Amino acid sequence: MKSQILGVNFDNLTPEQAKDRFLGLLESEAPSLVVTPNPEMVMLAQRDANFMELLNSADLCVPDGIGVVWASKFTQSVIEQRVPGIDLILAVFKSRRGRQARYFFLGGAPGVADDAKDAMEAQFPGLRVIDTHHGYFHDDFENEVVERIAAAKPDIVLVGLGFPRQERWIAANKGRLGAKVLMGVGGSFDVMSGNLRRAPAVFQKMGLEWLYRLLRQPSRIWRQRVLLKFVFKVLFERMRGK
Ligand code: UDP
Repeated sequence: MKSQILGVNFDNLTPEQAKDRFLGLLESEAPSLVVTPNPEMVMLAQRDANFMELLNSADLCVPDGIGVVWASKFTQSVIEQRVPGIDLILAVFKSRRGRQARYFFLGGAPGVADDAKDAMEAQFPGLRVIDTHHGYFHDDFENEVVERIAAAKPDIVLVGLGFPRQERWIAANKGRLGAKVLMGVGGSFDVMSGNLRRAPAVFQKMGLEWLYRLLRQPSRIWRQRVLLKFVFKVLFERMRGK
């Protein structure tokens, strides 16, 4: 079942169901796109029709932020739980089928994806990250990066270039990579590599990861202003009966 939040169609799934759907995508012939929009991404989609179309073309779309789950309470089909992208990936790594797949990590500052590879292969024995590439390449090197990924023959490409670049990059190149599943993962390599600590479990459980990130990186306040706009927009649309 789908739940629409300000025009973005989310799959209403538990984390377990989301993992199973992700693994199911490995069986299909065509390359699949996985997105995990947060309120910032939903707000960008309000003024960028191409980005909206891109999110709605995804084969799996689950809410990364608690804000989206909250907003769903004003719609016909309430989303019960958020499914943070990083949790979805870790659940896939943990599963037997997930460990049979070949991965390519693209994104992050130089060295970060390599560190993420080492850390994940140590944490999940049998996991195969075939190759990595950092995310600070110039557009002129796009072909080189695509060729390197295609040559590695991965089943799953995790793309951590930040939004909307990562989703656009996937849409533009997914037909040339030969991979089955492509997913935008934001800053997940920073977390996997240990460079960035996730919020303590209590913050995660209460849906306050955004607050923890804000306390640690006050400069994010400028980015998080958009959360307020998101709240007002959701309430406004609700009052209009949409
Ligand atoms: N990044 C990248 N190339 C770029 C810009 C950003 O690889 O040109 C990486 C950056 O190093 C970080 C991630 O993209 O690992 C963005 O993380 P953030 O938590 O800001 O994700 P977002 O919320 O933007 O998806």
